[in-house]
Amino acid sequence: MKLTLLGTGCPSVDHKRFGPSNLITTNKAKILVDCGSGITQRLHQLKVSSANIDALLFTHLHSDHAVDFYQLIISSWHSYRIKPWKIYGPKGTKKFVSKIMDAWSDERKLRIAYEARASDKAFQIDVTEFKTLGDIKVKDLKIKYFEVDHKPVKYAYGFAFTNTNRKLTISGDTKPCENLMKYAQKSDVLLHEVFIEGEILKTNKMRTKKTLHNVKSYHTTSSQVGKVAFITQSKKLVLTHFVPTQFNKNRLKKVVKSDFGKDPIIGEDLMTITI
Ligand SMILES: [Zn+2]
Ligand SMILES: [Zn+2]
Repeated sequence: MKLTLLGTGCPSVDHKRFGPSNLITTNKAKILVDCGSGITQRLHQLKVSSANIDALLFTHLHSDHAVDFYQLIISSWHSYRIKPWKIYGPKGTKKFVSKIMDAWSDERKLRIAYEARASDKAFQIDVTEFKTLGDIKVKDLKIKYFEVDHKPVKYAYGFAFTNTNRKLTISGDTKPCENLMKYAQKSDVLLHEVFIEGEILKTNKMRTKKTLHNVKSYHTTSSQVGKVAFITQSKKLVLTHFVPTQFNKNRLKKVVKSDFGKDPIIGEDLMTITI
């Protein structure tokens, strides 16, 4: 199984760290987790066609994780996708997908009629909403989904993927929570989000003290993520979803290592990890 980080950023714009999204590939399956800003450009850089993606999973419906959804669908149509989309996400995903598709429906009808492409299967979208806990199978990839704690977001999930006895866990956006520590146990790779303390010091009119406090409190901080990874007994910890997107990498590594016991991998866009 391979994990490729398509976007390691957050809502802040950074041309080196696109919006959150990841690609997981096995011998048979290609899965996307989230579709943050720039996902289609990153897939293009990897020479992976969106026509061949088997499923898209949303961790939650914060805009940084979902904003390029329509771009993904449209580009898959341009890439001659001849199968419907299979989408999994939290409660509210059906409504989200139908609203987005609806917003562009007039433009799309005109385009489909005028461009007369060979297939419009890319616009057939089958959405399955998660329960609190469950399993999905996509070809040779097993996926367990579980709730994480990203309150006030009501429905947020992490995923544990298994293939050929290897395990990859993706935290999604979460503060430290029991479910993650339970379902990430003994991961070969734990891909975890992080809020880096001490890197956003300045407040201004748009970013008050309360903003910083609130953003920090629904994420996992740099002084917590190593402890979480240690508790999960994961072999490797890969960090992503950096808040902020620019920071002192050595300082972050040092802080996390002091809790995890091993150097974490600082994720970068287009980094591929074989699991
Ligand atoms: Zn996020
Ligand atoms: Zn979020």
